Order: sequence, then structure tokens, then C-alpha cells
Amino acid sequence: MADEFLAQCAAIAGAQNVVTEAQDMAPALSEPRGLYHGRARALLRPGSVAEVSQLLALCNALRVPVVPQGGNTGLVGGQTPDAGGAAVVLSLTRLNRVREIDPQSNTMIVEAGLTLAGAQAAAEGADRLYPLSLASEGSCTVGGNLATNAGGTAVIAYGNARDLVLGIECVLADGRILSNLSKLKKDNTGYDLKHLFIGSEGTLGVITAATLKLVERPRAVETAFIGVQSPQKALDLLVRARAATGGGITAFEVVPRIGIEFVLRHASQVREPLAGASPWYVLLELSGQDGAALSAQMAALLEHALEAGLIEDAAIAASLDQRKAFWRLREALSDAQRPEGGSIKHDVSVPLAQVPVFIDEATRAVEAFVPGARVVAFGHLGDGNVHFNVSQPAGADTAEFLARWHAVNDIVHAIVLRHQGSVSAEHGIGQLKRAMLAKVKDPVALEVMRTLKAALDPNGILNPGKVL
Ligand code: FAD
Repeated sequence: MADEFLAQCAAIAGAQNVVTEAQDMAPALSEPRGLYHGRARALLRPGSVAEVSQLLALCNALRVPVVPQGGNTGLVGGQTPDAGGAAVVLSLTRLNRVREIDPQSNTMIVEAGLTLAGAQAAAEGADRLYPLSLASEGSCTVGGNLATNAGGTAVIAYGNARDLVLGIECVLADGRILSNLSKLKKDNTGYDLKHLFIGSEGTLGVITAATLKLVERPRAVETAFIGVQSPQKALDLLVRARAATGGGITAFEVVPRIGIEFVLRHASQVREPLAGASPWYVLLELSGQDGAALSAQMAALLEHALEAGLIEDAAIAASLDQRKAFWRLREALSDAQRPEGGSIKHDVSVPLAQVPVFIDEATRAVEAFVPGARVVAFGHLGDGNVHFNVSQPAGADTAEFLARWHAVNDIVHAIVLRHQGSVSAEHGIGQLKRAMLAKVKDPVALEVMRTLKAALDPNGILNPGKVL
């Protein structure tokens, strides 16, 4: 039976695109954090929408579980099959064409397996910007971005992946192709089905292409690295910057001093950003069309913020290299936590005004529970989204510390929920937060989600064991 199934897959996608050798499948069977490792019957690599459709129809008929996979950069184990070995991994990476760019409509139709960097480059080639921006952009794919409704560093200006889509092409569990690659900004002809698939983490359908929104390329960008006393001062700075710029903020990231120390210890090509140390830092970026005006705006903003006691010190990038160096301090932080030992992660959001009090309460609670724990709370403050990571006490036993993962999660998430926040701001649910979702989500909302899942995937073949 197994051979017959694989032979049929090979007849659809070509024998070379039905990978069964353990060593060739291995990279697709574990994920970046090394938390999940799975097994699979085969790694399928279709090269067209028609092939995706035929493979899904076959899997549906034979009840073979299908795990869609793009760049395999997801952080919640959504793209990793379980240990049973019955599933196939369906890689979309061969569907990587730019089908069309329409600069007048400011739209671009691309296939799901195109990397985010590829999509950005295609937009740039037409003198446009596709503004989604993640540290994983060299590997993650447009399909994965949509399936996870990815966020990143430019959400403050342009929104999540969901906000950057006009239309979608998607293959349903039974192989039917739902094609709506609309370019329309206005289309109220009934339910807007694309939003069902965006953020569904491969559990409702396989995204094969999308119409993405483009925007005009900003001609000028000003980047500053700013020392502040506390998250509250950072928030006050954000409010002031919003008022001063009226929408020109394209990044507002926060990093604590301990994060900078980790980066300085472990990353290459980094240096102290400011003459003295500050307890917290803000990476602020403004974008616009008039370079001189933007530069004056940034200088005036920082000058007034300094006078008002909101900031301690600041440096404005004077060159592209300096701008990259500032971003490197922020982006190297994910990797720089690893050499410091175990790190218990939380990707949470709270209403913007509650961010400082959340960081304060959660830090105190965690430090009381694990004396010596080193809180590294950083990220997209401008979106109310904090990566509240907890590094083990220096020199502690890593396994012993990580054994407290769920207990620490419970403490932090209870505070998040008390502030009407979310326990998964941007990375999704996957396997990692599946049990948690059942505890925190409104029961009626969960019921509706299960109803939708049953309607679209009655045999439960699409990414079983994820989300629900
Ligand atoms: P995968 O990891 O392959 O899959 C992710 C999920 O989507 C899985 O559930 C999978 O089944 C499903 N899926 C993939 N492709 C499809 C498809 N075509 N159709 C249906 N389902 C599909 N995320 C953020 O939101 N913001 C960040 O700032 C951010 N920074 C990151 C930085 C680093 C260094 C890393 C490693 C990850 C980061 N991520 C971030 C997480 C990750 O990059 C995103 O979730 C990304 O969108 C996943 O894309 P992918 O192609 O790698 O998807």
C-alpha cells in the first residue's frame, strides 16, 4: 500500500520530487529551535498548483496526513510532522514564481514558495516596497508568512501579513482549487474567504499563491539608536514620535541592556551603540519621501525628547553601514541568547499602554519564581508585542531550568491575560501552544474554529495535531 501510494505521488510530481531517503528528508523534519523532531513517509515537492491539487486529492482519499511546509522557519512546530511517521511533508518551495507585478495597481501576484526576500526583491525591481520584514526573510516563504499571519518589524506602519494581501489561491483538503487572486481593494461580495486561510497554519488549506499589496518605496529613512531609562520612557517616546511624525514611524523596537550585553558577547561585527550604557534601548526608524525634512524631523524629535527627560542619549545613523549596524544589534539578539544557556520563550502582546506594567510585573514574578533568572524582554514595542524571554541563571543546570518551562509560561501568561493580552502575538499556535489555546480561548470561538475545520477538512488530513 505504502509503495503504491508513493508510486502515485511520483506519477503526479515526478519521482525525483518524492523524497524518502532519511538523510534527504532530515532538514524538513526538525525546526529552528530544535524543540520538535518528526518522522514522515515522504517529503513531497510539487512544482505546480495542479500537482498540489492532485496530491491533496490522493492524500484525502487515502487519509494520509499532510504537513504543509515553506521555509521551515516557524517557531511553534507547526511545520514539523509528529513522530508517528504516517504523514507526508508537502513542501511548497518549488512554487516560487513571480506571476505578475502591476505597479499601477500596486499589486504583485507571487507563488507561495517564493522567499520573503525574493518577494521584497521583486517589488524593489518595480520600484515598489513589499513591506513585510522579518529576521528570517532570507528563508521564510510568502505561503508560510500568510499561513502564520507573520508580523515582524514594520507592522507598526504597514500591518501584519494579513493586512498586505488582496487575494489568495489555495488548494482545499479534497484537492479543489479556490482561486481568488483578486487585485480589488473593494469587494464586498459575501464572506472574505482569504482571511480564513491566513493565520490558519496549514490546517484549513494549502496556500499556493497570493496577490500582495505594494506601497511606494520611501526615498528617505532615518534610523536612531536611543538609550532610555525604562519601558515607560520608551512608550512615552513612542507617543511623542507618533504625534510629531503623523504616521512616519516604520519601526519601534525595544532592547534591554542585558540583550545588548548578550549580543556584544556572542555576535560578530557589533559594537556599543552609545558612549554610555542605558538600562533600555529603542531602535527607531522614520521613513518618508523628503530626506532633508525627515532628517530635521528626527533631530527635532530627539532634541525635544532629551529636553523632556524621555531619553538619555541617542545616535542617528549617518550612513547605510551604521544603519545596518544598529539593526544588527537588534536582529542578532535571537541567536545571542543561545550561548547563555536555556531560554524560556514567550511571544506575547498586551494593549500598548500596558506594556511597561506587564514587563515590570512579569519580570518580578519570574525573578521570584526562579531566583537569578535573566529576563530578556525585547521586540516590537510599537505593536505591544514583547518577546518576553527568560534566560537561565548564569551557571545553572540547563535541563533543570528548562524543566520549569510550563510553570514559567503559566506565570507569565496569567499576567498577560490579566492585561487582556494574547499568549501568541505573532508566531502562532502550532504544536507548542496547542494545549494552551484550549485553556485561554473563548469556548464559543473554539467551537466555531472546530466547525470550520470539520467543514473544510472533514477527514482531518491537513496538519493534524496543530492549532486545534
Ligand atoms: P514554515 O515554518 O515552513 O511553516 C509555518 C506554518 O505555516 C506551519 O504551520 C506550516 O504548516 C504552514 N505553512 C507553510 N507554508 C504553507 C502554505 N503554503 N500553505 C499553508 N500552510 C503553510 N515570525 C514573525 O511573525 N515575526 C518575526 O519577527 C519573526 N522573526 C523570526 C526570526 C527568526 C530568526 C526565525 C527563525 C523565525 C522568525 N519568525 C518570525 C517565525 C517565522 O519566520 C514565520 O512564522 C514565517 O512566517 C514562517 O514562514 P515559513 O515559510 O518558514 O513557514
